[in-house]
Amino acid sequence: MAGALIVGNWKMNGLSETARALARAVRDGAGTVADRACLVLCPPATVLALVAAELNGSSVRAGGQDCHHKAEGPHTGDISAAMLKDAGASFVILGHSERRADHGETDAIVAAKARMALRFQLRPIVCVGETLAERDRGAAEAVVETQLLGSLPEGFAEAQGIVAYEPVWAIGTGRTPTRDEIGAMHRHIRRLLAEREMAAVPILYGGSVKPANAAEILAVPDVGGVLVGGASLIARDFLAIAAAA
Ligand code: 13P
Repeated sequence: MAGALIVGNWKMNGLSETARALARAVRDGAGTVADRACLVLCPPATVLALVAAELNGSSVRAGGQDCHHKAEGPHTGDISAAMLKDAGASFVILGHSERRADHGETDAIVAAKARMALRFQLRPIVCVGETLAERDRGAAEAVVETQLLGSLPEGFAEAQGIVAYEPVWAIGTGRTPTRDEIGAMHRHIRRLLAEREMAAVPILYGGSVKPANAAEILAVPDVGGVLVGGASLIARDFLAIAAAA
């Protein structure tokens, strides 16, 4: 894998035509950053196959935003890891704070989902991050430690798993931690991973990453890439973030 991982999380945005156009624009611009960044687009499941088809033959990869923790069965409305793989995904975001909040996902469920992702050869991107209240009371590192240790399954590093640090208070708010705060948390995560023989796992930063702050964030030690929400919906901005790697 070349350089930094630049992952676009489209969240609940994108109908067929806009999804196709966005994927095409990212694909067409990806050549200029291919030497320093690996691009991944994570669209809604309904357009995943369309997006994967547009990306086919290019260096840009597709990913899902969640998968179920069971392989198959009576789970109405859910999406399995095998289905994501079948639709063209090679990555899957797991345990995003919006899923932890909206769907009550616990660390144990996230670990079970990650296990399923590994079984179907998807690279899991496991998200961790504290709320503002947790940071304000000085508990950010402890919260992230608990989430991390509870959410990563056996074999995570060997299967090229990825961790994303996304402080909840920085998501969609335009507010980002300082360089020092990002550096301190990534160092903390790196140490926790190293203690578990997972030192090679890339650690992404996510939360209000924009073209204007991407270079500064990507230059922080132990930041192996970024997980981008809002700015990944505009091809020019997403490519500008990748170009900052
Ligand atoms: P924003 O980039 O919109 O803050 O979202 C970050 C995020 O949640 C990516 O997973």
